Amino acid sequence: MGGSKVQGKILIIDGISTNRIVLKVKLTAAFYDVVQAGTMAEALDMIRAEKPDIVVSALDLPDGSAAQLCATLRSSTHTESLPVLVIACTSDKEERLHILRAGAFDVMNKPVNETLLLGRVRNMIRAQNRLAEWQMRDDTSCALGLAEAPSEFVAPGKLFLVGSDAAPLQGWTRQLLPQLRACYTVTLLRDAMARLHAGTAPDAVIIAQPEATDQIDESFRLISALRASAHTRDIALLIVQHAPDPLRATAALDMGADDVMTKGFEAEELAQRMQFLLNRKRRVAQMLQSVRTGLREVVNDPLTGLYNRRYAMPYLTRLIERSAGNHSPFAVIIGDMDYFKRINDQYGHASGDAVLVEAAKRLRHAVRGSDVVARIGGEEFLIAMPSTCVNAAHDIASRICTTISGTPFAIPGASKPVSVTISLGLALGQDTSLTNAPAPERVDALLDRADKALYGAKLQGRNRVSLSRPESRPAA
Ligand code: GH3
Ligand code: MG
Ligand code: MG
Repeated sequence: MGGSKVQGKILIIDGISTNRIVLKVKLTAAFYDVVQAGTMAEALDMIRAEKPDIVVSALDLPDGSAAQLCATLRSSTHTESLPVLVIACTSDKEERLHILRAGAFDVMNKPVNETLLLGRVRNMIRAQNRLAEWQMRDDTSCALGLAEAPSEFVAPGKLFLVGSDAAPLQGWTRQLLPQLRACYTVTLLRDAMARLHAGTAPDAVIIAQPEATDQIDESFRLISALRASAHTRDIALLIVQHAPDPLRATAALDMGADDVMTKGFEAEELAQRMQFLLNRKRRVAQMLQSVRTGLREVVNDPLTGLYNRRYAMPYLTRLIERSAGNHSPFAVIIGDMDYFKRINDQYGHASGDAVLVEAAKRLRHAVRGSDVVARIGGEEFLIAMPSTCVNAAHDIASRICTTISGTPFAIPGASKPVSVTISLGLALGQDTSLTNAPAPERVDALLDRADKALYGAKLQGRNRVSLSRPESRPAA
């Protein structure tokens, strides 16, 4: 076994060893790593120890049933998304529904069509891998303390029903509505792509596999077109066959359908299967969201919402390079609040924080949307202004000074608004074609010039702007 998991790991659960062996031979031949269990108890241990990607279970087990197993798996966060394929001898509709409701991904009847079984397994493992990739990144976000709690709010889904004849699909809609609250739209196959691309993509598409061969081909073209387009790639896609057609079912799964109903339309079963797909899709979306939030938090200062140092430094590198490339001027300001220690001492640290939040808001308002404002230290800010010449930069810097000093700050704990000021050091990007420098200035040299200018502003009495003079730059 080792660590090489080429295709995926499957746990087979069946009380009868010959059944397990037959299945194992088939799956091993398809290059899956197979482990087995004879009872539900054994299976639960095995799941913990072996971490299979999917489970294929017999309906009845010596110490329970597949439905019980599914219910147990759903009750733990570690196993809730482990997909279970149940192999049964039942054609009882209620029993199928019972197993699907317990959380099984599919129920296949014996004798099992081998091609479709392998198609199902491929489909389940593919979906599971996709989920696992996001899970891994989400875990990283959680480990860094970045993820936010998933939102509980679930909006009703938008579902498309597509087929070669609208009338029966209208009938399906009426039967589905009480089972699955959603907004349904019926569309003919030939109009489907255009309708699906108009507006926001739906959450799910249900394709009724047509009976005429040429129209079946059209429905397959729709499956691959849906999966090929970024707009529709993540839509949950379920195919309903009017009669069992295992080869086409397998082909549909391989082309990217998420699920196939092989026994015709049945409202409750379709609703149950669709709910499963929508839940899975929602889990992926939630993980994606928390990964994005995590990334956002990595580059943001939690107190003020401004960018932080981690974002500002590589941004400056790009700004310097790009400005050198197109000979456009740019400006950088480092601002430091004046006598900030006194504010803390007088009104408390929390009040100091409130001043920083308000100052950040004023800075943001004083500059253009394309300028970057970052908090790079305790009470230090950086403002980077692309495509800005010396005169404009000076005007903006003066405006920043007055936006802070002009209106006293309302401070919690202070009886009346408190006057606050900021000192600014301004450095202009140097055009290498004018200064004859061999290469663009480095970020640290640029910041050093702005820092020196800031020091000058403090020395001259604070609440002012000081400009770094280009000639003060040491020769490269
Ligand atoms: P000046 O810059 O004008 O020379 O005086 P200053 O008092 O601002 O100078 P200094 O750099 O010595 O002190 C900065 C103070 O800012 C120290 C610290 O108490 C305060 N400070 C730094 N970060 C934070 C913060 O996140 N929240 C609060 N409330 N205060 C902070
Ligand atoms: Mg300081
Ligand atoms: Mg200060």
